[in-house]
This record gives sequence, structure tokens and C-alpha cells, in this order.
Amino acid sequence: MEKKNIKHSAYISEEENTLNWQEIQNAFKKSFGSEVYNSWLEKISLVKEYNDYLILGVPTRFFRDWIVSRYLDKILEQVKSFKLSLSRIEFKIIEENKQNQEFIKIDELNKVTEIKDSILNYNRLNPNLNFNNFIQGKSNDIALSYSKRVCEHISRYNPLYVCGGVGLGKTHLLNAIGLELQNDNNVMFISAERFMYHFIKSIKKNDMVNFKDFFRKSAVFIIDDIQFISGKESLQEEFFHTFNSLMDKGSQIIISSDRPPMKLDRVQDRIKSRLAGGLVVDIDIPDIELKEKIIRKKIEEIQNQFKENINLNNEVINFIASESKTNIRELIGVLNRVIAFSRVHNKILNIGDCKNILKDVFNQIRVITVDKIQNVVSNFYNISLSEMLSQRRSRPLARPRQIAMYLAKKMTTRSLPEIGRRFANRDHTTVIHAVKTITRLSEQDDEMKKNISQIKSLLLEQ
Ligand code: ADP
Ligand code: MG
Repeated sequence: MEKKNIKHSAYISEEENTLNWQEIQNAFKKSFGSEVYNSWLEKISLVKEYNDYLILGVPTRFFRDWIVSRYLDKILEQVKSFKLSLSRIEFKIIEENKQNQEFIKIDELNKVTEIKDSILNYNRLNPNLNFNNFIQGKSNDIALSYSKRVCEHISRYNPLYVCGGVGLGKTHLLNAIGLELQNDNNVMFISAERFMYHFIKSIKKNDMVNFKDFFRKSAVFIIDDIQFISGKESLQEEFFHTFNSLMDKGSQIIISSDRPPMKLDRVQDRIKSRLAGGLVVDIDIPDIELKEKIIRKKIEEIQNQFKENINLNNEVINFIASESKTNIRELIGVLNRVIAFSRVHNKILNIGDCKNILKDVFNQIRVITVDKIQNVVSNFYNISLSEMLSQRRSRPLARPRQIAMYLAKKMTTRSLPEIGRRFANRDHTTVIHAVKTITRLSEQDDEMKKNISQIKSLLLEQ
């Protein structure tokens, strides 16, 4: 106990340098593997160290976006093992030009031709997402019929832009088009995120010529989740040129997005108008009829695949379809749960069983809000809501605050930044830290485990 206190007091001062960056870099290399390390982490430098946060230097904005979206969690975890008091990381873009030149110099030595192979590895179409198992309904029939027409008449509807919320079948549809066309055409199917990955990699390797050639020679260019280019200026620039050059030579372009072209956020106007210049079709939320059809089709697939009999009566199918409100991905998830349960218990399920199985799924998705979690947790610990949201760090306030953040992450669909904002505008890294801390404590500490499960049932009861 005594020792712990002493160790702690070493971290009290506001600003104190204790980190050996080289040592941390070595740890990165070990835990991320040398490929990720050499491409990304090695280039991160330590700019400034504070008691509870670090400023790290990165060469470009792309670089930062990439690191944040992929590795931030793990980086924070790693550096925390060197300095416990750290709770967040900020990035600073430094010496963009100078660093880029350095990359180029190094990479000229081992000039790259592997772009083709590495892209091909990610250009695989999924044979299970085809037109045969895409079920038609009111919410998707226009999108479906134009997707099929595109396959019959390349470049008549150009670009074809499919938009709709998450889990409604966009990727499935794009993939189906790719499968249909790939026998006779050079088809490129890539998500906007992967496109960016190859773009950055090519810049770093001074291999843009290859990159441009590769993408611009496809006869059918399918790009998924274009909303990802939001705010990424040079990526947009590159995309714009790729787009134009493909259109010029009459290639078919198919794009998906979570929103219509003109509603894309922080995307250049000229791109938006190009995207809107062909045919825009949208996929809506499925009605109950379509959901039931999809359930029946899935059951049929599973029966054929596993040669087993799955017994769900109409009433149960109707129940699942009407309870699952948000999207098709969720619907399939729920169905799988029900099927798994009936397998384990080897029984024909009735609605009561289903209600029980699905109780927490539906509750989590629909009823639990961040506000509610904050209220229940602050009541539970007998603190006021304003204390919970305050900046005070004493443990009797900080723990419940962390628990509330943890539950917000686990029980709602809110993203880390959104949760942070609802806790008096805290940074998302604070939320990550809270989730980690409470996850660990609830594994180690029985009291914590019990409290969390009580709070959860309070939340689910209401
Ligand atoms: P999105 O890309 O719009 O987020 P996905 O294409 O990944 O959605 O679809 C989510 C899941 O729902 C996938 O498993 C997909 O096969 C399935 N799905 C979506 N729409 C249909 C449909 N009309 N018929 C059959 N399965 C569908
Ligand atoms: Mg998708």
C-alpha cells in the first residue's frame, strides 16, 4: 500500500517528463507487428508530455486520421502501461513537407511494384452477396431494379449512386453488381476507406503513377461508403480526377453512401454535383413484409446449408420482424440469436421465449439513452447529475462518471465522441479510458461487478 502511494505521488506534478519514447516505440513494434509499425507507428514522434496527456507528432492529416481511426485505442493502452496517469493523446501535424521528402528518399531505395497485388487482395467480391439472395421489397425495389439494369447496359446510368442508412443492403447490392459484371469486365470494388489507404501508401512510396494507372483502367469502378472522403481534401482531389478519367473513357461507376450526394458533409461541391449527375436511388427502411421474407429466406439458407430443421412458426417470425425496427443487419443478428437458442435448448420456440431471448437486445437498442444512464447511475451512487458532469476528479465522483460512460458505450449505439460530448464536452479518449478502466475493474473487483449488474438491471427494468 505504502509503495503504491509513493509511486502515485511521482505523478502529481502538472508537467513531468518520464517517458522514454524509444522504449515505447520498441513496444509498439512488438505489439503491432513490423508491417504496421514500419508503415505508421515508427513515424510518430513525441512532441510534448504532460501529466495526463501526450502530444504526438505526425507527418500529415491523413496520417493522423488513419492512426486515430485504427490504432488510437491500442496506442493509448500501450503508453499507459508506461505511464498510468495518461488519459488521452493529441496529435500535431509537424513539418509536413520535410517529412514527406524524407519518406520519399527512403522509399526510392526499395521502389514498389506491389500495389497491384495488395489491392487485389482487398478487391475480392463476396460470392454470398448476390442478386439471387437479395430480397426485393418496397423499400429497395427501385435500387434493385436499376442495379440490375446497370448490369445489362453499362454506362447508361452513370454514375449509379445508391444511398441509404446503415445495414439496409448497400454493400450487398454493390457486391452483387460486381459479381454479375466481373466475368466480362475489369471490375474494381473497393471501399472509400481502402481507397484512401492505398492512396496514402502510394504517396509515401512515391508510387502515384502506379496508383493512378491501376484505378483508372477499370471498366467498372465500384466504390463503397463514399461518405468517408468527408473532410479529406487531398483524397477528394485524387478521387475527383479518378472519377473524371473513368467517366471520360466510358467506364461504369457505382457508388454507395449513407446519404444523398448533396447532403455529403465537407465534400467539395464539384464532387457532389458529379456524384449527383447520373442516377441516384435510395434504399429505405424495410417494411414488415420484406423483413418476414428475409427471415424466411435466411432460415431456408441455414436449413440447406446445415441440413437441419429450424422450427419457427409464423407468429414468431412476425414477432421478430415487427420488433426489429432499425435495419436488416440487426434483423439478421436477432434471428441468429433466436436460432442459436432453439438449437441449444432443442425446442420449438414460442413468442414468450423469443421475448426473453431478445429482451436485452431490443432494450439496448431502443430504450436506453445516455441521459437515462446518467440519471440511473447518479441515483445509484447518490450524487447529483451536475456532480457527475462536473470537472471534479475525486474518486466518489470520478468512478460513477466512468461507469456511466462505460455503460453508455456498452448499452447505446452512440459513438465515443458523441458520448464524450454528452459528458460536458469531454474528449473521446476520456471515454476510452473510462471504458477500459471499468472493464478491468469489473473483472477484478467483485463489488464493482455486482454494482454494474444491478445498475444494468435497473436500466433494463425501466
Ligand atoms: P449496408 O452496406 O447498407 O450497411 P449491408 O449490405 O452490409 O448494408 O447489409 C447488411 C446485411 O443485411 C447483410 O448481411 C446483407 O446481406 C443483408 N441484407 C440487406 N438487404 C437485404 C435484402 N434485401 N435481402 C437479403 N439480405 C439483405
Ligand atoms: Mg456497407
